[in-house]
Amino acid sequence: MGKHAIIVGGGASGVTLFTLLATTPGISSITVVDPNPIGLGTAFGTTDPLLLCNTSVDVTSIKPTGESDLLRYLAARGWPVHRDHFVPRYLVGQYCRERYLTYRRTAEQAGTRVRHHRARGTAVRPHDDGGYTVVLDDGAQLVGTDVFLCLGLDQPVVPELVRAHVGHPDLTTVPYPVGRLRRLPAAARILVLGSKLTAIDAALVLGQRGRRVVLTSPSGQLPAVRSRLSRPASPVLDPGSWRRLAPESPDFDREAARLVVSAVARAGSGAALRAQTSAAAAPADRLAEELRLAESGQVPWQDAIAEIIDAINDSTASWPADTRRAVLGRYRHLISRYISSIPVRNARLLLEQLTGGTLAIVPRLPEGITPAKAGTGWLVRWADDRTEHIDHIVCAAGYHKPTLRQLPDRTLLLHSDPALASAGAEPEVSAGLRVCDPRSGAPERVWVLGATSHPRAAIVNYLNTAARQATGIATDLLWAAHDVPAPTVSGRLA
Ligand SMILES: Cc1cc2nc3c(=O)[nH]c(=O)nc-3n(C[C@H](O)[C@H](O)[C@H](O)COP(=O)(O)OP(=O)(O)OC[C@H]3O[C@@H](n4cnc5c(N)ncnc54)[C@H](O)[C@@H]3O)c2cc1C
Repeated sequence: MGKHAIIVGGGASGVTLFTLLATTPGISSITVVDPNPIGLGTAFGTTDPLLLCNTSVDVTSIKPTGESDLLRYLAARGWPVHRDHFVPRYLVGQYCRERYLTYRRTAEQAGTRVRHHRARGTAVRPHDDGGYTVVLDDGAQLVGTDVFLCLGLDQPVVPELVRAHVGHPDLTTVPYPVGRLRRLPAAARILVLGSKLTAIDAALVLGQRGRRVVLTSPSGQLPAVRSRLSRPASPVLDPGSWRRLAPESPDFDREAARLVVSAVARAGSGAALRAQTSAAAAPADRLAEELRLAESGQVPWQDAIAEIIDAINDSTASWPADTRRAVLGRYRHLISRYISSIPVRNARLLLEQLTGGTLAIVPRLPEGITPAKAGTGWLVRWADDRTEHIDHIVCAAGYHKPTLRQLPDRTLLLHSDPALASAGAEPEVSAGLRVCDPRSGAPERVWVLGATSHPRAAIVNYLNTAARQATGIATDLLWAAHDVPAPTVSGRLA
């Protein structure tokens, strides 16, 4: 009997896996469960051409190795792109959608039944004799042999400051789709809660008609600036040294720093890291200096990033989840500043807004936010006791990672919203990205990919990570289809 695969979540990660399952022998049916059109998830489902990827075409591909499949797709349609370019995110959405449709035809021609079931998955119930029932929010239940959870990021973080006001007409809890921001009046004064990628998207969209925008976050720090995130022509780091890093060692921080510095030095022919970044205290000065460095090709650190992400993911995969979280927590600032840095184009637009006086960055959150008594908008109280009137507030503090909860009887509850996740416990996830039976520890035929793999993977907000994960999973399934144990050296296996 062939396998019946159920992919829950049809964003970029789900499509990546789908294209591989479509050509894996022994699969009789593939059902993709997603309330939205397949391929158009949170990041790449946007339709606004202003919003760019912060990863180059080279790594923004459903195929993790070889020539970028996105580059091939865009070039075939006449887009004059280079592997280093940052393209609008909607193009990646179209690419994922088209690749899904193409591979769907391939699978159907080979006799595999493919369905898109438009609903949300709420639970996965294991059967005692193998197989799983996926419970959906439309009342339907799907039975399959293999379940792949690709839930992505769709629950925004709503900062405590405004949580009591959700539903207020002058509060936008997530910037996407950005049509609502575009409709705000040109004279509006807008407070954006956040200073990282989603906040920058919001500032760029709002700044288009000269609206006055204040970005605020506890640090007020913007990400660094890069002109590409591509794979380097030749490797700049030694993955073996990364794998030998011992998180419990007192030398861990020194050794990790040494590996980063030597990778950056190799990428930049020895240029000192200090000369590649700005230490300016004021955000506008720092942005201006880092933009100048990126525009003039003086940021070789950027060419170590793709390999550093892979090395972090690979070397920390075998660590206990708590250890991984604790160590990564110490580096959160560096990760969000450099791994999630912004394209030169975005930096230029932000700097124009900052120097033109339409954008301000405040490095602390307000003390209080209350609805204005008369009329509309908000009264925002700052630490110096100053109170100002704001017309609209936009939350842009990122997304919650999808939460899985496991009951003692092996049932998995799928909640994008952590506020709902009170029952059960976080499941154990194996190195092969399989959810484990809480009683025996044996791996279930339930896999996690992309953002859903966060209990095992360190850096998940990156399509290349999902593509690498999907390739590993599909390879294991292929070996299993031939009834041969897969090699254990890759760390892919259960
Ligand atoms: C604003 C933003 C910008 C980003 N930019 C980049 C970038 O430039 N480059 C890059 O590599 N990465 C980027 N990322 C990270 C990106 O999210 C990852 O690359 C990821 O691979 C995207 O694919 P995904 O399928 O994991 O998630 P998503 O694209 O979010 O897709 C998840 C899908 O699952 C569905 N879903 C959720 N819950 C359920 C459920 N219970 N049942 C059924 N369906 C469900 C949703 O409807 C959605 O279609 C960005 C992320 C964000 C938020």
